[in-house]
Formats: sequence, structure tokens, C-alpha cells
Amino acid sequence: MNWADISVVLTTILYMISAVLFIRGIKLLGKADTARKGNLMSSVGMLIAVVTVLLEKKVTDTLTAEPMKNAYLWALAAIVLGGIIGAVWSKKVEMTGMPQLVALFNGFGGLSSLLVALTQYMTDPDVNTFSAVALGLTIAIGAIAFTGSVVAWGKLSGKMFKKNISIPGKNFINALLAIVGLGGVVMYALSIAGIVSAQIGDIGIIIVTAAYLILGLTMVIAIGGGDMPVIISLLNAFSGLAAAFAGLAMSNSVLVVSGCLVGTSGLILTLIMCKAMNRKLGALLFSSFGGSAKKGAAGEQKEPISMSVEDAYLILEAASSVVFIPGYGMAVAQAQHAVKELCDKLEENGAEVNFAIHPVAGRMPGHMNVLLAEANVPYEQLKTADEMNPQMSNTDVAIVIGANDVVNPSAINDESSPLYGMPIINAFEARTVFVLKRGKGTGFSGIENPLFTNDNTVMIYGDAKQTVSSLVSEFDEA
Ligand code: NDP
Repeated sequence: MNWADISVVLTTILYMISAVLFIRGIKLLGKADTARKGNLMSSVGMLIAVVTVLLEKKVTDTLTAEPMKNAYLWALAAIVLGGIIGAVWSKKVEMTGMPQLVALFNGFGGLSSLLVALTQYMTDPDVNTFSAVALGLTIAIGAIAFTGSVVAWGKLSGKMFKKNISIPGKNFINALLAIVGLGGVVMYALSIAGIVSAQIGDIGIIIVTAAYLILGLTMVIAIGGGDMPVIISLLNAFSGLAAAFAGLAMSNSVLVVSGCLVGTSGLILTLIMCKAMNRKLGALLFSSFGGSAKKGAAGEQKEPISMSVEDAYLILEAASSVVFIPGYGMAVAQAQHAVKELCDKLEENGAEVNFAIHPVAGRMPGHMNVLLAEANVPYEQLKTADEMNPQMSNTDVAIVIGANDVVNPSAINDESSPLYGMPIINAFEARTVFVLKRGKGTGFSGIENPLFTNDNTVMIYGDAKQTVSSLVSEFDEA
């Protein structure tokens, strides 16, 4: 066995180790208490994969080639620079800024695959037809994931595209862009197969890149409100698929494995989200969601009733069943620890306490579960909408903490509402509903919530953490 054979075996073994670390890491990410370990394991897997790629024969060969003479130095500089930016950014980001960071990560994933594919196209003309098709698809999916994620980042952070822009003839335009882009892939593949000239292939690459960069924009720009979580997981799946195709184009097994893992888990999450939102994926991609925020009809305007913490305490003190319904506002206020304290006080007082968690509450899948797990709320107390809704009419007090869209009854009884059809937590069925929020702000969808003016609803205005802490103090002083 010569050195070349040994290095092939070594490379394969290292790739297998990193693939196993990815798979094990994803498994551990499934539970809050093992998630950190899972994250670390996957990161180590990625490090091994990156180092192995650098050591692989192809890269070492480039050391001697003039334009890539300092390939290792460039790669090392990129790792160090990217690592520092990633570490500082992740440390600095607020929990509430996490969703947009994740959206941006998806975008960077797509962009890297796009750049890798374009580099491969420019530097390696000797690809076979299969690799050419894979390369074209990498460009297409990478491009759509990149621009789509940038739009999603803009919407989530409120920095860009705040309003859902409805594009006239959106479906036609999107279908046209998709088909024209695929036409570009075919042109490139035909040029590689020698059927058309190389120039036609070059034009094909330009067409697919441009068409799918625009498609990412037009596809996501019109989506908003309740559909954002679904589109974010879809973009996540796209970034994985792009990497998997890049792996196929460059015959890199670890890229295929990691890309498939991200792609399939993203796709599974997308389908779960679709089910939770009662939406069909096709309908979501080919319809404009919530073009404009709807206000309640004129004449129906009723002022919500507000209540002091002292009075709210008296109702809570007498309650024998309480359900907390957390939402994005709990994350903003970082109220989870105070909520746990209030939960303990209520239980000491003899009440049965549960948490009703909506799958899209907050700004990322599992957002509420993560926060409540951090505050040591037992997992068994976290119930789904399906589990809690049948019990809601027997609940004395539902405490809505910074949630809005996920408790909006328009989703059930107003066919004209953009939220219509989305399952919600039926807070309105509880005997008394406390809504803890700062003022009259709407939720992510920008839609008014008739729950707030129901006769059995009282508003307790203020920052959620402060309000909950004041309720805890009332119990302490009693
Ligand atoms: P919403 O965004 O509907 O509402 C949050 C509410 O919290 C606001 O009405 C706001 O009212 C209140 N709030 C904000 N800060 C505070 C604070 N410090 N103290 C008290 N209240 C506060 O949240 P939901 O969780 O109900 O719904 C999530 C929405 O986000 C859905 O539309 C979902 O589709 C979307 N989304 C979800 C994603 C996911 O993966 N989970 C991803 C992307 C979007 P006020 O300003 O008056 O205080």
C-alpha cells in the first residue's frame, strides 16, 4: 500500500467519524438537557471535516500550483476570521435576536454552496454531465437559500421588508424564474456533454444564478405573519440540499452526508410546521400571506378592560387551575424565571398549573420550550395545543404572557383574517383570561386581536417580567 492509498483510507475514516459525530449530535440536539453536548459534538465533526478536506490530496496538490500556492494560509485565515466573527456574534446576540441570526446562518450556508459551485465551475472544466447537473442545482438552491434568507432576516429583525409586499402575478413570475433557471442548468449540462458550445454553458450558469437569486427574493418577500416559521425551516432545508448537491458535484462524501442531514431534518421540520399551522406547503409558496394587516371593523372597536396586579392577585389566589400561555413577549422580557416562581407559588397555593405551548410561539421552533427549560419548568408541564385546548373551558385563569397571534380567535372565527385556519391555543375559552403585555402592540402578523376585548379578558399592562414578579411579591406578602 503506497502513501496515496493510505491517505484515501485515512480520509474516508475521518469523513466517517465526522458523519457519525453529525448524526449523534443531531440526536442529542433533540432534548434540551443534551442539546449543548450535541452542538459541541457536531462542531467537532465539522472541524474534523474541514481539516480533512484541507489534507485531502486535491487540496495539497493545489499547494504547488501558482494561483493557489498559499491555499492553506487562505483556508486558515478564513477559519480563524469566520470563527472569531461567529463566536463574538453568538456571544453578543440576545435570545430574542436568535431567530434572525439563524435565518442569516441559513443564508450564509446557501451562499457558501453557491460560491463553492461557482468556483468549481470556473476552475474545473473537466466535470462529467452528472456533476454538471449537480453543480447547476447547487447554484440554484444555494442562490434561493441566500436571497430568501436575507429577506427573512430583514423581516424578522424588522430592518427590511417589514410589510408583506404582494407582487402582481407572483405565481407566474416565480414559476417563470424557476423554469428559466432550470433551463440554464440544462444549457450548462448540455455544454459539458459536448452537445452545445461552452459559451452556451457559460450563459446557462449566468441565467441560473440570476434567476434563482431573484426567485429567493420574490418567493419570501410576499410571505409574512404565521407563515414565516414555515418558510424559515424550508430555507434551512434548502441550505442543506445545496450543500448535498455541492458534495455530489465535487464527489465529497462528508458534504453529501451533512447536507442531507440538514436538508432532511429541515424538510421534516417544515412539514411539522405546516401541520401545526394548518397550511399546505404549495399553498404557502404560491399564495401571498396577509397582504395587509387588518384592523377590526369600524363600529366594533371596544376598549379592553385593564386590571391592577393587586386585583389580579385576588383572582389568582382563588384559582384552582391555571394555564400559562407564553409567547414572544416572554422572550423579550426574559420573564421565564419569574414565571417559574409564580408557577411554584400557585402550586403551593393548591392550584393545578400547566403551560400551553404553541408550536410557532416566539420567533423560532421550540423557542418557548428552550426558555422554560432554562428556568427549570418540568417538561411534563409543557403541553401542546391539542392536549390543552379540550381542558381550557375548565380552566379558571389563562395567563397569556406576551403572546398575541397564537391566541388570536380570528384564526377560528374570521374567515377574512390572514390567520384564518391556523390552530391556536383557545385561551378565550378559559373562565378568566389575563393578558400581560406592554400596550396595544400587535403581534408578528400585525393583526388586531379580538381576544383583548372579550368580556372575560383583562389586560395587565407592563413589561411581562415586572408584572409577573409583582404577582409573585403579592403571594409573598400574603
Ligand atoms: P406575537 O409576536 O404575536 O406577539 C408578541 C406580543 O408580545 C406583542 O403583542 C407585544 O405586545 C408583546 N410584548 C413584547 N414585548 C413584551 C414585554 N417586554 N412584556 C410583555 N409583552 C411584550 O407572539 P406569539 O408568540 O403569540 O406569536 C409568534 C408569531 O411570530 C407568530 O405570528 C409566528 O408565526 C411568528 N413567527 C414565529 C416563528 C417561530 O418559529 N416560532 C418564526 C417567525 C415568525 P406589546 O408591544 O403591546 O407589549
